[in-house]
Amino acid sequence: MQNIQLVNEAREAAQRLSPFKTFLAKRFGKKIYLCHEGPEKHEGWTGQLPFYLFWCSVCEHWAKNYPNGFPERQRLHCSNCNARYSFVQLRIQLQMVSELFKVAYRIRTMKRDSGTDSGAGSV
Ligand SMILES: [Zn+2]
Repeated sequence: MQNIQLVNEAREAAQRLSPFKTFLAKRFGKKIYLCHEGPEKHEGWTGQLPFYLFWCSVCEHWAKNYPNGFPERQRLHCSNCNARYSFVQLRIQLQMVSELFKVAYRIRTMKRDSGTDSGAGSV
């Protein structure tokens, strides 16, 4: 589903991007935070949502949208062709990595403890 308003806004926002950010977006799929929008612009909304500008490599258009879905697996939909891009915020990625480390550490500690236990048992 094409959202003409978002497509136009994306194009305007892209014109204001620095060449470096344009490069990052087109080459590496970087999502660029634009602003928060809420009820003042979107009828029926109760809160503010962050909008991002990104380059859609499927239809080769600039797209603007807000992330959909649960924090662990959010997606950005292209406002032009509706292609989906996974979008997990860095903060949450870091959280997931640190959880992973905690689990790995716990497993290691458990192994070591059980090793000590069997050693103690044999005494
Ligand atoms: Zn697209």
